[in-house]
Amino acid sequence: MTTVLDGAAMARELLNELRGRVALLTRRGVRPGLATVLVGENPASRVYVRNKIRACGDIGLHAEVCELAGDITQSQLLEAIQTLNGRTDIHGMIVQLPLPKAIDAQRVLQSIAVEKDVDGFNWANLGSLVDGHERLAPCTPLGVIRMLDQARIPIEGRHAVVIGRSSIVGKPLALMLIARGATVTVCNSKTPDLAAFTRSADILVAAVGRPKLVTADMVKDGAVVIDVGINRLPDGKLAGDVDYESVKTKASAISPVPGGVGPMTVAMLVANTVAAAERLHPA
Ligand code: NAD
Repeated sequence: MTTVLDGAAMARELLNELRGRVALLTRRGVRPGLATVLVGENPASRVYVRNKIRACGDIGLHAEVCELAGDITQSQLLEAIQTLNGRTDIHGMIVQLPLPKAIDAQRVLQSIAVEKDVDGFNWANLGSLVDGHERLAPCTPLGVIRMLDQARIPIEGRHAVVIGRSSIVGKPLALMLIARGATVTVCNSKTPDLAAFTRSADILVAAVGRPKLVTADMVKDGAVVIDVGINRLPDGKLAGDVDYESVKTKASAISPVPGGVGPMTVAMLVANTVAAAERLHPA
């Protein structure tokens, strides 16, 4: 019997847990606030931002969008971020990616105050993961870990294979799994014979961006399979990196797309914002 890891339900549970912490902060006169900087017109970005705002609003956070024109200059954008860095009613800030090509995205991300960096992309926050500390860690890897924890799937002593080595998903997730005692293999586009690695995974995470990259023959019987990928198919539907129907027959647990890691990522963003507010206003 395969367990479907229902990220939407798990995210609701996490948000419910956070409600109490938000109420405590609010009683002390601190309403946690998240600002999202949105540059230019990107329909997919708008959908992501809307989901984040809704999740914040549902549990009593203040959430606002700082909308900026697509032809904004780098210095104007940095100025807008400095303003948000200085606002005492904003405890978390994210810049929705992708940014227009003319903008140096890395420079922009690094200008967010470390203590408000709720996406966890600042090098100080990413760097602390190397030492096993999750201060404000990236939301998608956090969501994957929370999903495993909530489903009571042990990590320690198991072989975790992560496909994808990006700085926002694959690499930080690998560090978090190492910190929890997993033996971790990280694969990438240059990995020869990917299946030879994936077949030995107790926990297999796909974070690539290629529909149906992971097929049933690449998965060990009874493995836990987490699908981070979000791919838009020609018919408009969303699909992950895993061939869900066939892999489901072999996996002991599997996360679907949509309704898996996506909602967990949004919930972890809210969790990071609440944690940032608590740290900025200790009781
Ligand atoms: P990325 O493009 O930065 O990284 C992709 C990684 O996959 C690279 O390290 C690359 O080496 C590796 N790769 C590419 N082709 C491969 C192959 N054939 N075999 C093995 N490895 C291969 O992407 P990212 O930002 O890490 O995102 C990965 C996927 O996760 C995308 O589909 C993205 O949309 C999705 N994503 C989902 C969430 C969520 O909330 N669910 C959040 C972030 C990203």
